[in-house]
Amino acid sequence: MPPDYHMHTRLCRHATGDAIDLAAEAVRRGLTEIGFSEHNPMSRDDWDDWHMYQADLAEYFEQIERARSAFPQLTIQVGLEVDFIPGQEPWIRELAERHPWDYLIGAVHYVSDTWALDNPHLISEWKKRDPFEIWTTYFGLLTQAADSGLFDIIAHADLCKKFCFRPEADCTPLYARLLETMARRGLALELNTAGLRKDCREIYPAPEIVRLAAALKIPITFGSDAHAPGEVGADFAQALALARSCGYTESRRFKARTATSVKF
Ligand code: ZN
Ligand code: FE
Ligand code: FE
Ligand code: ZN
Repeated sequence: MPPDYHMHTRLCRHATGDAIDLAAEAVRRGLTEIGFSEHNPMSRDDWDDWHMYQADLAEYFEQIERARSAFPQLTIQVGLEVDFIPGQEPWIRELAERHPWDYLIGAVHYVSDTWALDNPHLISEWKKRDPFEIWTTYFGLLTQAADSGLFDIIAHADLCKKFCFRPEADCTPLYARLLETMARRGLALELNTAGLRKDCREIYPAPEIVRLAAALKIPITFGSDAHAPGEVGADFAQALALARSCGYTESRRFKARTATSVKF
């Protein structure tokens, strides 16, 4: 089993379990390496209600230390899932420098100042707009995130399919621009199994995108996006099958923001 590099704790206020609970589940499932990627503290704590508070960063590291002590047989990396929002780059850089991260996952959820397109309470926003416009904005921002030099991995690349508002137009040019930027910048693409648990019932990103990534020799990571201990390593067999079908034989490992590879 490849490392699960996308996991949340209760510190983001919409997940359950401490780091030690997720680590216990990882050991139970036979994983040998995991990494936490809590939703980053924002530049203002009142930005929204689903990011970790700035003051909880210390506890985040403490929780991970406790999990490491309890399960010495498990390698545990510490990262963040960082929301890329244009204008927030200085804050992200400050966060990146302030702590010894193993990796930073760049993610786009916000497609306007106030709308995170995956928020289940704001599905009404989708109905006011043309899906192609939203997908174009979303992939444009994700491409900007990839080109920012701030991140090691790109999260759930087609998150915009979550609620099944799919454009009729061909989106291949949007995918190609993102992936060409990722290849140039040396970023890894995350295969995120949370999509299987959402309305879209499909791994993020779609097989078409994984195939394009493989053609560009873009490395991959695996993530369950666990928001509860029971979701650690969820559906990794299916993610591995997808990766293999696209020609992948290894996933990327990170330690102190330095990449190596591990066969699966
Ligand atoms: Zn979350
Ligand atoms: Fe996310
Ligand atoms: Fe996440
Ligand atoms: Zn996520």
